[in-house]
Amino acid sequence: MKNLIFCFLFLSCAHHSSTKNHIMFVVDGMGPAHITGARLFKGGPEARLAIENMPYTGIVRTASTNDFVTDSAASATAFATGVKTYNRSIGLSDPRLETSGEARELNSILSAAKAAGKSVGIVSSTRITHATPAAYFARVPHRNMEEEIANQLLAAKVDLIIAGGASYFKPQSLGGKRKDQLNLFDQFKAAGYQILSTDKEIFESSSPQPILALLNDDHLPYDLERKENLELKDYVDFAIKYLSKNPNGYFLVVEAGRVDHASHLNQVRLALGDMLAMDRAVERALDEKKNTLIVVTADHETGGLALNGYAPHDAVTGERLFKNHKRDLVQEKFNHGFISWGSGPGFHSPIRVDESVLDFQHKATYETPIAYHTAVDVPVMAAGPGAEIFTGFHSIEQIVALSAKILGLDLNNE
Ligand SMILES: [Zn+2]
Repeated sequence: MKNLIFCFLFLSCAHHSSTKNHIMFVVDGMGPAHITGARLFKGGPEARLAIENMPYTGIVRTASTNDFVTDSAASATAFATGVKTYNRSIGLSDPRLETSGEARELNSILSAAKAAGKSVGIVSSTRITHATPAAYFARVPHRNMEEEIANQLLAAKVDLIIAGGASYFKPQSLGGKRKDQLNLFDQFKAAGYQILSTDKEIFESSSPQPILALLNDDHLPYDLERKENLELKDYVDFAIKYLSKNPNGYFLVVEAGRVDHASHLNQVRLALGDMLAMDRAVERALDEKKNTLIVVTADHETGGLALNGYAPHDAVTGERLFKNHKRDLVQEKFNHGFISWGSGPGFHSPIRVDESVLDFQHKATYETPIAYHTAVDVPVMAAGPGAEIFTGFHSIEQIVALSAKILGLDLNNE
């Protein structure tokens, strides 16, 4: 009874007993215009995305401790650990904000879930050593230390990993990138992992042993450039079935990481293709919402994507969104029509492009070798028991605190 009163007064143990599992989707680089663009690409202004069926929405401020525009490392550390940090940090606090002057090693929600007896998984379309997945299991002062990030993966005891990035697990003598000549796959094998490298091997695997599936040396391909590969939705489906065998539940982080990469190159069609692949994966995850907290958010917006007026619905539906170039009646010339970017290599795009080339760079206002991240707030969508607390404005490090509260997990980062 005393406990009940304590909970009632302080809401400190307001976790939902019906929330056993948590799936966190991180859409790297997704701002509000990416959502609108994905809707238009899917079927025009009247189409609807799966993420639009998520009942609770909020807005997230993304600034890091040292810059009003965050990078993916600082933001991933914030939403994996609940502590805001400096650009480039993976899993370490900002030493300038510590009384000791030393960076603290932070615990992620993945390690908290593991400690609570849940199964844990990571699915990413990038290298597993890339900033967003790394923040869930590694602690290094700079995101570029990918060999060291790979070294730290085994100790995290992740039950299921499906991503790219095999090159950081292989010695240079085997075509990998490791200068220390270690073969980390041997270490994972010795620890009981199944080492898988193709879609076929994943779907033929029925063993309960933990899975390390690195399907490409570098990132996985953009969704619109996939050949026979399965798509993100299939990996999420496999992960849910694999992880939900644990009666204590699971935590799964899914990164749609290449919306960011295409946006850095001002290639809007590839970015929106990956947005739709992410949306199909979310649709699959929403089947689990009865006892699973599902959160979709972004680490920052990339590129300053803008969708400019005016056009009838059918002119901006599907592929026409990219092909259709508006005639500027004042200047009597064709311009890039409906889509433009704030910065990036598209600054040099021709005034009128060949409409048969779909993956061209759309026009950017400022010339930069790759487009900048921007400071704009990003959306958060949530579904499942307890998800209503995601409504409103949040700072990026508060997102994981909300998830931990619903699941009754303690991150121990105070
Ligand atoms: Zn980026």
